[in-house]
Amino acid sequence: MTLNVQYLREHGPQPASELPSGVTIGDRKAGVCRWTLRGSHGQTAMGGSATMIYHLEEHDKRLIIKRFLDLNPQLVDAKDKAGFHRSVRSHGESWLDAARAVSDDYFERPERLQQGGWVDQGEQTCPMCGEIFEGQLPTHLENECSSP
Ligand SMILES: [Zn+2]
Repeated sequence: MTLNVQYLREHGPQPASELPSGVTIGDRKAGVCRWTLRGSHGQTAMGGSATMIYHLEEHDKRLIIKRFLDLNPQLVDAKDKAGFHRSVRSHGESWLDAARAVSDDYFERPERLQQGGWVDQGEQTCPMCGEIFEGQLPTHLENECSSP
């Protein structure tokens, strides 16, 4: 077991700056993983650069995502909840589930009605068919709604 593995085991997911030493191939072999969000053009999907989180397989995914969001408040400001979920989805369904479990603590709820009608607020539940859709309700009702 390496120093970094021992530290992560005791303290949970951490950024590189908190680790006792630089992450080596030995750490990787011992099970140290890293987590961040990437966009399609080498940047993070949420704009700007993100602080990467190192963790072990045994760590709870929710903890890893919380630590990531705690350390990247600029990304929380730059993105809404639906956009964050879309970014996390590329990591797989289990990560998306974990993100959904913690993102309410960081992102405002999408259920907001603004003056002038519905605005695009990411994921909403349709009152007619009960499906979750993205975008504006009138658009959903016209084009996608499966309610008779
Ligand atoms: Zn519907």
